[in-house]
Amino acid sequence: MKYYSTNKNTPEVSLKEAVIKGLASDNGLFMPAHINKFEPSFFEDIQNLSFQEIAFEVAKKFFGDDIPDNKLKEIVFDTLEFDCPVVKVTNSIFSLELFHGPTLAFKDVGARFMARLLNYFLDEQENQVNVLVATSGDTGSAVANGFLGVEGIHVFVLYPKGKVSKIQESQFTTLGKNITALEIEGTFDDCQRLVKTAFLDKELNEKLVLTSANSINVARFLPQAFYYFNAYARLKKQGILKNKELVVSVPSGNLGNITAGLFALEMGLPITQFLAANNANSVVFEYLESGDYKPRPSVETIANAMDVGEPSNFVRILDLYEHSHKVISEKIKGFRYSDSEIKAIVKKVYVETGYLCDPHGACGFESLNEFLLKDQVGLFLETAHPAKFTETVEEIIGEGKVKLPVKLAEFMKGEKKSIVLDNVFQFFKAYLLEKA
Ligand SMILES: *Cc1c(COP(=O)(O)O)cnc(C)c1O
Repeated sequence: MKYYSTNKNTPEVSLKEAVIKGLASDNGLFMPAHINKFEPSFFEDIQNLSFQEIAFEVAKKFFGDDIPDNKLKEIVFDTLEFDCPVVKVTNSIFSLELFHGPTLAFKDVGARFMARLLNYFLDEQENQVNVLVATSGDTGSAVANGFLGVEGIHVFVLYPKGKVSKIQESQFTTLGKNITALEIEGTFDDCQRLVKTAFLDKELNEKLVLTSANSINVARFLPQAFYYFNAYARLKKQGILKNKELVVSVPSGNLGNITAGLFALEMGLPITQFLAANNANSVVFEYLESGDYKPRPSVETIANAMDVGEPSNFVRILDLYEHSHKVISEKIKGFRYSDSEIKAIVKKVYVETGYLCDPHGACGFESLNEFLLKDQVGLFLETAHPAKFTETVEEIIGEGKVKLPVKLAEFMKGEKKSIVLDNVFQFFKAYLLEKA
């Protein structure tokens, strides 16, 4: 399969090149040249396959031309060592829990897949590949844990000193092995600037193999289609979809997750409607309502992984539907919630059903609650475990009510190892040249 750039100003590339480069040379995002559909018969028996088996079938549609089946199967099965179960919340609303991976958020799926795919492509290469990632919290932990112990790859996580929560920091500073945490004296923007400058620095790129692992990478976003297919299978298996339509709601920030869902849809997965749930950062909601796309700086909310003012995957959705606002606004309905609304939803769902949503999932739940018609079943993506936002959630439902999952507690016990660096590029460069 070839990959083209959404800017269409550069030749198509191979999967290997798309994964290693991340961004196309004309600054566009890579898109697969074809979408391989499933036969309708695939969906008749899908409920008899396991999550890993379903994911392997989906992966073959994307990557089957480029990777031998046995190798691809290994990568998929190894990525999905954990489940993404579907849990009943009300009679018509179900939660797709994406928080059973190592860092308790959905980004684990894409990060683990990308690490294994990169490792496969690098097999014959001698040089170590250095992944540079700037993080304000969640991306760093998913990437560090996804790449942990993967041979031939070293990860440098840059994060702003003192500006990341203890839980988040522990998830990438206690790992050791091929993961190095760099505590930068400065802000997240400083971290991002250092990484971007490094990718442009001639000397660094001559001496080292550098790559990024951000969420625009095709190897991170496409595998997110796996769990949409699996959720359909699990609902079907339980007889829940009999004579019912399926509506899927996605708490959205950079739109990677919902774009993967739209790919699943275009591959034939029977989903009637997508909902995009925004917080106060509602450029997508506004675009869907009016057709005007007005990116702007983000504002802070309690659903902070959705604090995005210029969603990077928006161009992929435009490209997929040939820039037609009419088509896009039919496929996706937008919703938005303020912080006070999010708090009220978390509380209401908890009191009425006993199910504890995190602030992101809460937006997904409520959009279904508003939208669903009779004869429809709703599924929202529960994108992170509520314990990742303990302070916020306990303020809503009461102190001591959120149990710290074993996995998070284990991270907290580990010994913090990090290197403190000034936010000056020359120091960062010198450090990389010596260590990488
Ligand atoms: C990253 C993230 C999101 C946003 O997902 P996108 O793919 O960027 O739209 C939502 N919730 C949580 C918990 C996240 O970590």
